[in-house]
Amino acid sequence: MRTFALAVVLASFVTGSAMAQPKWAIVVHGGAGVIERADLTPEQEAAYRAALTKVTEAGGEVLAKGGSALDAIEAAIHLLEDDPLFNSGRGAVFTAEGRNELDASIMDGATLKAGAVAGVTRTRHPISLARAVMEKSPHVMLMGAGADTFSRESGAEQVEPAYFFTERRWRSLEKFLAEQKLPVPSRPTGAVVADEAAALAHDEGKYGTVGVVALDQAGHVAAGTSTGGTTGKRWGRVGDSPIIGAGNYASDASCAVSATGTGEYFIRLTVAREVCALVEHKGLSLQAAADEVIQTKLTALGGDGGVIAVAPDGQMAWSYNTSGMYRARLAAGEPLSVGIYKDEP
Ligand code: ASP
Repeated sequence: MRTFALAVVLASFVTGSAMAQPKWAIVVHGGAGVIERADLTPEQEAAYRAALTKVTEAGGEVLAKGGSALDAIEAAIHLLEDDPLFNSGRGAVFTAEGRNELDASIMDGATLKAGAVAGVTRTRHPISLARAVMEKSPHVMLMGAGADTFSRESGAEQVEPAYFFTERRWRSLEKFLAEQKLPVPSRPTGAVVADEAAALAHDEGKYGTVGVVALDQAGHVAAGTSTGGTTGKRWGRVGDSPIIGAGNYASDASCAVSATGTGEYFIRLTVAREVCALVEHKGLSLQAAADEVIQTKLTALGGDGGVIAVAPDGQMAWSYNTSGMYRARLAAGEPLSVGIYKDEP
């Protein structure tokens, strides 16, 4: 009996210490919208799945090596920002004036520090600029010309505005402006047409924002979101992506969330913070909280889009009320899962 009890104690000690091993997890999205099987060619589908795989594995590698959630997010979002398939960095959608005005934000769940930029025009990686705002300025959010100046001064990589140009997004703008009976502006100076990868981009409605949430081995969560906003935006419109609590939020007390969809609804519902508040104050599971906000509240308000989320205990979730969302998740000891359509897990 004694030996048995000792064995049980020993076994639980061994299991307990194994379970106490830090775990890591990463969830990625590349936008939500009208994404149905019939809409994507096999080449497009393969391109999106390959991109999501590459990005998620790159972020996972940082975490597996003991890197921070912030570093994993930045590494993964760099790849998404460079990839013309997604509406962030190169491949961003155009404003009605034919410009690319980029928004991004990042938040550290361990310290509740956050950084965000809105309407920047020359930064190759807006997510890194958001991180620079968080780490190198006393502020949380910078916008427009001032943010472009801070970008130069902080040493962020600069590009000509035409770097962001893709033919596919330009055509989406032309279509949008024709519907709105607005004039089509001239193309940005130096815009280069024809790019095979960009040609595969799918017009999923107006969206395509990217976001990554991660849990690192130290038990900290973080969230990052980067976008060109919505096609044909006017008057300096800013969506939810750079607004802390709306399109992005992270706290070790609850969870980390990145959102995509019609930003106006996400701002009004403070979607990202709302998901975490339900976890923190109501004790909901991460999936239940995400579903409550997206399937119930967002849907009731007439909004569309979705979220990805991760919690310090390793829970991962996604929820969206559109026909699809580009998404992937990976965690220590778990296989990679990539999805596009609603009927996938
Ligand atoms: N949420 C973004 C915005 O409203 C758009 C998107 O998710 O694609 O700017």
